[in-house]
Amino acid sequence: MIPQPPDSLFETIVSIAADAIVAVDENRRIVLFNWGAEQVFQYQAPEILGQPLDLLIPERFVESHRERVREFAAGPQTARRMNERGEIAGRRKDGTEFPAEASIAKTAREGKSVLAVFLRDVTARKQAEARLTYLAYYDALTGLPNRMLFADRLKQAMLEGIRREHPVAVLLMDVDRFRTFNDTLGHEAGDQLLRAASQRLRLSTRESDTLARLGGDEFGIVLTGLRDESDIGRAVQRILDSFAEPLSVEEQTLYVTMSIGVSVHPGDSLSAEGLIRNADAALSRARELGGNAFQFFRPEMYTRTAKNLALENDLRRSLPRGDFILHYQPQFDLKTGDLIGAEALVRWMHPQRGLVPPGDFIPLAEETGLIVPLGEVVLRQALSQAKAWHDGGLPPLPIAVNFSVRQFRHAAMVETVHRALEETGADPRWLDIELTESSIMKNPEAVIASLGELKRLGILVSVDDFGTGYSSLAHLKRFPIDVIKVDQSFVRNVTTDPNDAAIAAAIVTMAQTLGMRVIAEGVETEGQAGFLRSKGCDGAQGYLFSRPLPAEAFREFVEEKNRQG
Ligand code: C2E
Ligand code: CA
Ligand code: CA
Repeated sequence: MIPQPPDSLFETIVSIAADAIVAVDENRRIVLFNWGAEQVFQYQAPEILGQPLDLLIPERFVESHRERVREFAAGPQTARRMNERGEIAGRRKDGTEFPAEASIAKTAREGKSVLAVFLRDVTARKQAEARLTYLAYYDALTGLPNRMLFADRLKQAMLEGIRREHPVAVLLMDVDRFRTFNDTLGHEAGDQLLRAASQRLRLSTRESDTLARLGGDEFGIVLTGLRDESDIGRAVQRILDSFAEPLSVEEQTLYVTMSIGVSVHPGDSLSAEGLIRNADAALSRARELGGNAFQFFRPEMYTRTAKNLALENDLRRSLPRGDFILHYQPQFDLKTGDLIGAEALVRWMHPQRGLVPPGDFIPLAEETGLIVPLGEVVLRQALSQAKAWHDGGLPPLPIAVNFSVRQFRHAAMVETVHRALEETGADPRWLDIELTESSIMKNPEAVIASLGELKRLGILVSVDDFGTGYSSLAHLKRFPIDVIKVDQSFVRNVTTDPNDAAIAAAIVTMAQTLGMRVIAEGVETEGQAGFLRSKGCDGAQGYLFSRPLPAEAFREFVEEKNRQG
């Protein structure tokens, strides 16, 4: 028996406890019912005192509860939890049930044995747990299964497919030009678009198929119950066709198309991961073909990889040899025509292949991490060049250097820039760091931290390829950005595609309200330049003015321009 405190102290403690405390005598009659119990069970003490404890227990549990209590009362223990997890159910006055955590103790009062039950309503915690489980497996925006549950369901479908000798298809898809919709219409509308697209997809899939949102604008479907592969083609075409009707988003009518990649079990892979990876490769191909299309996976989609291995080896050998040169593309003020800067663009002087454009090796350098040493080579070369031009009497010009996010993730990045500036003797104001919008969003905290330090030195920061990431300009407010570069894909069509024209104009307006300058890239025609100028775009670069030039040619270009005044 638990030793008792003096009666009055006992009463006080019990009455103020927030937990429900209910005590019963040997006949299971309630002899104590504290304030906490009144709250939980909704009975007032006077109406329940003297009543059987069974009133507080859901009927179906009364028997087992009695059994457990009897066993406990007879045993040697003085206190214990009601069951291993301490969980039981309680019944309120109105008959509703609630989950509770409870423990029980033996004591005595006026010589008679008393059992006390301590109990806490855990409804709120249970709801939170359920919500967490939901969030772990479902996407909050669309209510669809998420990537985790998708993979789970795929594995189940594969087992079922093996048993019944049916193929299972994995479809990965995304919304063509989603980022464009998102940027022009705003995030709220972007979310609505995703919800509308998910509803459309649900209508063209069967109940037994799993439709999931895998992240961003990417959806996945597991198709089951297929007889053969021609069934798959029909199902996929039906999905594409279902988007022939426009979606309605914020009272606007939007024509949306999808790209779909398909892989099939067991032919394309025996593992869920393999199927998803292969469907993803097929999706990339469908996108490359311009969207509104589907592609079945084919192993050739990976043959690039073997080539990449050889290229990676060459790249490793070229790094210490410094087989890289920079070309410089001038940037101009659109109003005055003045030269305002230049972008450094790297080329690889491959021993056998000649001059290799960056598109052919930068992605590989990023994947392998070689971009970190390569980026340092580029940075030093650009800064020494800037210094040499300055010493040679050219007016000071900021040189834009492209940085990949891998370089920013590298801990020593700020240090590397410091050292390169010191050792080349270049002025920090001659350096303009270009980061793509998507790379900023991939690792915002690291970028903010590094940029903050670099900005203090007077370095400029530009956001490259703006409009192709998933962010809105408002997100960029957090970053210390000087210049927004409108991506070529919008500039290309400003005079022909009203949509792209609207986007380009909106980017200019928004950037300027945020105090950033705007430079358009890839300007090839007078028409494009005129449109951009009319919208207030500050600067431009592109073939209309000049291609990227080797250092010497760039100097001549500048001198020639100065002569013309
Ligand atoms: P980017 O930063 O968007 O560079 C602009 C690209 O557009 C350059 O291609 C440039 O030659 C090209 N361009 C310029 N004006 C025009 C035009 O009027 N019309 C067309 N159609 N194209 C134009 P480039 O030199 O092949 O570079 C491709 C990409 O490689 C760059 O795109 C950049 O993302 C990356 N890159 C280049 N150098 C470096 C570097 O040093 N480091 C890193 N991390 N990436 C680099
Ligand atoms: Ca760039
Ligand atoms: Ca660019």
